[in-house]
Amino acid sequence: MASQFRTDESCLFCRIIAGEIPSDRVHEGERMIAFRDIAPKAPLHVLIVPRDHLPNAAATAAEDPALIGELIGCADTIARENGHEAYNLLFNTGEAAGQTIFHTHLHLLAGGKLTDLPV
Ligand code: 5GP
Ligand code: ZN
Repeated sequence: MASQFRTDESCLFCRIIAGEIPSDRVHEGERMIAFRDIAPKAPLHVLIVPRDHLPNAAATAAEDPALIGELIGCADTIARENGHEAYNLLFNTGEAAGQTIFHTHLHLLAGGKLTDLPV
């Protein structure tokens, strides 16, 4: 059966979701997966990524606001599972703001002291 989710074959995160590129997964759900960032900026740095390919959080929110809530809930669960009640969440949007992968993803950062924008 064809995937119910949009994909882009040139998108790194679509390829990670498809399992074509390995990742250190910490969560696999129906609508999203989460894996450790390859270049962590905090002791716990996880990316929570919808399976559906859209370029950024605003585009996802415009189509499906509840999915943004689910991403946040997923991040909170992962933080707590790893012993963190305090954490930072970040959506980079636009190249000038540091976005490098144009597939919606939420950064979860925990365990460090954030004195400046980390990612
Ligand atoms: P952005 O800068 O787009 O908000 O975040 C992209 C993030 O993806 C960066 O923090 C970067 O370290 C991470 N990243 C880039 N390539 C890979 C990869 O192949 N595997 C994993 N796990 N993370 C990656
Ligand atoms: Zn994608």
